[in-house]
Amino acid sequence: MQFHLNGFRTGDPSVKVAADRSALVRNAGGGTEVDVLIVGCGPAGLTLAAQLAAFSDIRTMIVDQKTGPLRLGQADGIACRTMEMFQAFGFAEKVEKEAYWVNETTFWKPDPDRPEHIARSGRIQDTEDGLSEFPHVILNQARIHDFFLETMRNAPSRLEPTYGRRFLDLTVDESAGDHPVIVRLSRLGDSQTDAVESVKARYVVGCDGARSAVRQSLGKPLKGDSANQAWGVMDVLAVSDFPDIRFKAAIHSANEGSVLIIPREGGYLVRLYIELDKLNENERVTSRNITAEQLIAAAQRILHPYTLDVKEIAWWSVYEIGQRLCDRFDDAVEGSGKPPRVFIAGDACHTHSPKAGQGMNVSMQDSFNLGWKLASVIHGLADERILATYSEERQAVAMELIDFDREFAKMFSARPKTKEGDEEGIDPAEFQRYFVKQGRFTAGTATCYAPSLLTGSTTHQDLAQGFGVGTRFHSAPVIRYADAKPVELGHTVDADGRFRLFAFEGTGEREAIRQLCDYLANDAASPVLRYTPQGADIDSVIDLRAVFQSGHRELERDRLHPLLLPQKGRYGLIDHEKVFCRDLKRGRDIFDLRRIDRKRGCLVVVRPDQYIAQVLPLDAFDALAAYFDGFLVARG
Ligand code: FAD
Repeated sequence: MQFHLNGFRTGDPSVKVAADRSALVRNAGGGTEVDVLIVGCGPAGLTLAAQLAAFSDIRTMIVDQKTGPLRLGQADGIACRTMEMFQAFGFAEKVEKEAYWVNETTFWKPDPDRPEHIARSGRIQDTEDGLSEFPHVILNQARIHDFFLETMRNAPSRLEPTYGRRFLDLTVDESAGDHPVIVRLSRLGDSQTDAVESVKARYVVGCDGARSAVRQSLGKPLKGDSANQAWGVMDVLAVSDFPDIRFKAAIHSANEGSVLIIPREGGYLVRLYIELDKLNENERVTSRNITAEQLIAAAQRILHPYTLDVKEIAWWSVYEIGQRLCDRFDDAVEGSGKPPRVFIAGDACHTHSPKAGQGMNVSMQDSFNLGWKLASVIHGLADERILATYSEERQAVAMELIDFDREFAKMFSARPKTKEGDEEGIDPAEFQRYFVKQGRFTAGTATCYAPSLLTGSTTHQDLAQGFGVGTRFHSAPVIRYADAKPVELGHTVDADGRFRLFAFEGTGEREAIRQLCDYLANDAASPVLRYTPQGADIDSVIDLRAVFQSGHRELERDRLHPLLLPQKGRYGLIDHEKVFCRDLKRGRDIFDLRRIDRKRGCLVVVRPDQYIAQVLPLDAFDALAAYFDGFLVARG
């Protein structure tokens, strides 16, 4: 963490210097003209708000029809990939400390000798080794909201949600100048009950959940299977002799249905997902009057012969499974050439069952994908065309998720196979194999964006096979040169909207990094020179880092180009944290781990959302310039 750049400050460094007063007033919801209006304070909306709050010059308003923050329930699974994103927002360590860690998962099926009893049939490591430096964890959605709210509050714009506002409708009038989206909000719960306010925005993002009114105002339906399978979910404090009560456990009983046990944070709380009967056509869960007592009784039957004595129910709900997807996540019209103005994210554009723990994760990744793109366009740094890549990239991810979830939910809900030739039943071993096979998917690390304006081809992938173009930048340990601190390379970058260039030294071309720096610092075609605003720090748009193969004691400082020791801020202080070496002491060599060509080295271009845009030779100056010239707007 770097601070004091623009002068010594006491106090908590995570509380950033506040932007000027006028920005604060408008961000507090008092203004009617904003750059971005976000509808919905769920995980999707808060991720976007936290990202935009980092920019003091962007006026963001986030509204919710609720009267205050979420306190209970809903999702709880946090994938490794999401933890990587939390790291960039600065609160992964807090989540790690508070959460339950899913280290192993167990599987239970009917005991072959006494089918009315369940017996453990398998036990696996939950996440494969080396997939991420972060664990798969479980923490209440409300706490995740709290961390985002704190990040927003401490950001330069001191952004706070405006509660008690219900989105009614919107119109887009491109002739209405810079803020063409006009939104009507109904003001709830105070003396002005049902007063209607209007907000003009440059962009509107509907993060308003499965029944999204923003989506409806765009006339876009969610297509797919309507809910036909019901699951009860409850968070309980209970006494049980079930031996795996502190493991994630998938339990299939012979005739009583299935339960998924998710141990929760704090050591005592447990979540139970309990399968309910298959619904009849058009039968809504709510009409079935299911009670918490019925859910407990079902769980007790499924867990037999083990006991479950529920002492307290913290939260419960009934959840219907339906895999549904919107065919576009924005309001752009194919072939019109007009960039989108309105977007939808999270459950507003895709819904699926909760059991693979994807809802909250995919929703947050949606808006993490969108946030930096909006910021770049609003700053006049990037061409509006990049906004179309949001729907292209995230709709493809959601489609994969829906396909996966359909299969997963079907397998989970199926009756266990009783004998050979039982075509309807599912072999628990097959379910376990499927679970392992899909581990990367559920960890969120399988996402790979297709080539586009923002993502290059795999032409030079052989230079670093472990940094797949289109996938997230997979961190690895290194030693920081300036102070010999062991760090994760991926943790040295924040969610601040900047592009990163990671230059990895090749032993065959020792001068290549110096030549790259010379090019970036001096050549008229250099993207660093072309796109960095006048007077801004040299790394404010494109941030170069270098990783050398020498041990940190061997690397001589005169090998470092001044661009790797840039002078920044009002005093021209030197940034000493751009240079790294292999971690030889612990034997975890980033060049081996990410299969980087030791002789030729490489340049890895990483987008602000941590996805790899390009892997290039260190001297591919033209290709590097062409990449940024494809969508950035040169400064006048
Ligand atoms: P949401 O979290 O749904 O947030 C949408 C927000 O928009 C809400 O705060 C809502 O108040 C607000 N909003 C809606 N309409 C308007 C409007 N017109 N104007 C202003 N504000 C509006 N997932 C699991 O994995 N496990 C679970 O057990 C589970 N249980 C759930 C139970 C419930 C009751 C719900 C609603 C969801 C549950 N989910 C569960 C799903 C999971 O919470 C979502 O996948 C995740 O929250 C999606 O995030 P989101 O930000 O897209 O939408």
